[in-house]
Amino acid sequence: MSARRGRENLPVGGRGNGGSGAIRDVFRQSFPQSEVANHGFARVVTMTELKLKINEIFYSIQGESSYAGRPTVFVRTTGCNLRCGYCDTVYAYYSGSMTTLSAVLAEIEKHKTKFVCVTGGEPLLQDAVLPLMTELCDRGYNVSLETSGSVDCSAVDPRVKKIIDVKTPGSGEVATFDRANLKFIDVNTEFKFVICSEEDFNWSENFARENGLFEHGNVLFSPSFGRVDEKWLAKKILSESSSARLQLQLHKYIWSPHSRGV
Ligand code: SF4
Repeated sequence: MSARRGRENLPVGGRGNGGSGAIRDVFRQSFPQSEVANHGFARVVTMTELKLKINEIFYSIQGESSYAGRPTVFVRTTGCNLRCGYCDTVYAYYSGSMTTLSAVLAEIEKHKTKFVCVTGGEPLLQDAVLPLMTELCDRGYNVSLETSGSVDCSAVDPRVKKIIDVKTPGSGEVATFDRANLKFIDVNTEFKFVICSEEDFNWSENFARENGLFEHGNVLFSPSFGRVDEKWLAKKILSESSSARLQLQLHKYIWSPHSRGV
């Protein structure tokens, strides 16, 4: 299925459709939302009732961010409100199973690592991901969240490392960044730009400079796999004296680029 055709099948969401709250409404689960808002009550009394639609949970080497190289448990949620042209997780748009948070936690605890990455799809479309991340932090995990940048991260536990995408023109989703996320320019946030062309490089440099990302945040430039040569991007960063950090998707070099669950 082409990325573009997929958008028509979405019930609601994406840009110009009421913002992050409206996007999340589509994915709300059947459990009472009052229990989600009241974390203490939810965690003690009703944790087993909270559910997430999960695409897959697997153990592998983290391929991205400043946690690259760390053995990590990945929790991939189902559903995304965007349709990036280079998306490599199309299989997560719809496929998945409703899973209790207790079952997710039990699966994570099977592995001997303290690093967990919550990814998607777009994890923040499902409110139950918030108490899951808080619980993981409480249990001593180093939790990272990979998010598209189209949803406000304000409700995310501040202990979670946020890897926030800023969609470039080459993604096909350039106007979707929620500028509320600019308030998270701090050491616990990394802003990721997937570079598809020279135009994307220039656009990303300007965006990062104009919004102060280089001074206060960690900026990652990642070559769009199969579309941009990593050597070209490395040379570009050097020749333009960019302050961005070159990021390669390690897992695509270690395993087959099209492998799932790695
Ligand atoms: S935000 Fe991520 S999961 Fe969603 S379409 Fe873009 S690349 Fe795919």
